[in-house]
Amino acid sequence: MKKHIYILFLALISILFIGNSCNKSEGKSMIVIMLGPPGAGKGTQAIDLSKKLKLPHISTGDLFRENIQKNTNLGQKAQSYMNQGLLVPDEIVLDMLFDRVAKEDCKKGYILDGFPRTVDQAKALETYIQNNKLVVINLEVPDGKIIERITGRMACPKCGEIYHKTYKPPKEDSMCDNCKTPLTQRKDDTEEVAKQRLSTYHQQTEPLIEYYKNQKDVLCTINGTASKEQIQQDILTSIEKSK
Ligand code: ADP
Ligand code: ZN
Repeated sequence: MKKHIYILFLALISILFIGNSCNKSEGKSMIVIMLGPPGAGKGTQAIDLSKKLKLPHISTGDLFRENIQKNTNLGQKAQSYMNQGLLVPDEIVLDMLFDRVAKEDCKKGYILDGFPRTVDQAKALETYIQNNKLVVINLEVPDGKIIERITGRMACPKCGEIYHKTYKPPKEDSMCDNCKTPLTQRKDDTEEVAKQRLSTYHQQTEPLIEYYKNQKDVLCTINGTASKEQIQQDILTSIEKSK
């Protein structure tokens, strides 16, 4: 008799334990938002973070560029705004973003790079997500460094590796170290467009810092001028702390 009670007790404990751990992993479904001015390193950090956290990296800028390359309707609509350094209107951005995050690979969470870019977009995201842990990584880089960072930037169109003519030159001139593909420069990485993008950031995106500051335990501000490795470490530490 005693033995039976003991077995029953053990079964009960394991049911409770399994139930709990399921809840826990559900609770862990996390959305990381990379915030910061253009050229702050959001993409670079998001790529590394995506590998470490095993969460998909969703860049609205990359989604637009893919659409432009494939010459889709959406790409055609977005192109002129992007080339001028202006924000693409919400009716184009929101559908594209919500289609993407509805995919199966986003069930356990995702990393957003370049979204939200306005308070309205942040509010739209909030109505879409429920019960997710939100972490906003605000990469701080002073204006004085932005233009030089952007205009010297080159990327590999094949593997996505990002280079800089001064800070991270490829071993061979204009060739990707990983896959020997000729590097390309983004069309909006000229000085004129970069200046407009920075001004767009100050006017429309920067208010998000205040917006997220007012939400408890969401905003993590990180020095974006440290080394790439240091920044990644700081991001991981803040995410760990905010869990
Ligand atoms: P960066 O952060 O270096 O400016 P992105 O690749 O994130 O580069 O964005 C490139 C361009 O794509 C922006 O200048 C803007 O025109 C458009 N874009 C990207 N994300 C959004 C968004 N969430 N809302 C509106 N426009 C966007
Ligand atoms: Zn490459």
